[in-house]
Amino acid sequence: MSHFRQTVECWQCGHPAEHSLFCRYCDSLQRPTADYFRFFGLEPRLKIDAANLEKRFYELSRLLHPDRYLRKSPTEQQYSLEATAILNDAYRVLRNPVARAEYVLRQAGVESLEPRARTLDPALLAEVFELNEALEEFRGGDRSVRPALEQARERFLAQRGEIDAGLESLFERYDESRAPNVLAEIRKLLDRRKYVQNLIEQLDRELATESTDAATSD
Ligand SMILES: [Zn+2]
Repeated sequence: MSHFRQTVECWQCGHPAEHSLFCRYCDSLQRPTADYFRFFGLEPRLKIDAANLEKRFYELSRLLHPDRYLRKSPTEQQYSLEATAILNDAYRVLRNPVARAEYVLRQAGVESLEPRARTLDPALLAEVFELNEALEEFRGGDRSVRPALEQARERFLAQRGEIDAGLESLFERYDESRAPNVLAEIRKLLDRRKYVQNLIEQLDRELATESTDAATSD
């Protein structure tokens, strides 16, 4: 007997359940897998067909809806609740390319580096230094730096766009090669994206506060 391939049997009829949600012999709902890709019956890939995922989501929402199990056994009622919860989490994660990549990296055991150990691009660091100075002046009431802050925001949005394009091509490379060094590159780019995203959100908050102030003082 192989120790590597676990045989899963249908809890109801005992036939092999082959990791699918429904037994193909008796049609009963099986204990749902917590693996998001397997749950959707998808290959674990970084690039996925969004339209197909959405279609599967609506199909499964219908098939797993707890109302359909009101007259079924307590086992199936329980499984339908568990499956519905996993379905929603899995869809939220898989439909978003960044969350999906984070999920694949976590499954592969690729951890984010400590912020201190990250090597940030010196040009970006210089820009952040300038940004912090401008923000300080802005908070101190100097409205003349507002255009500079808006331009900085535009540049960070453009950088995020470049990062997303870079991720897209790394996703393709990983799906083709399954090479661990590609995952490491993705990790670095995702950390950089998080950094740039935080800057954009910070600027959005600061710029919004300022325009509210202006509106209320009128
Ligand atoms: Zn069965």
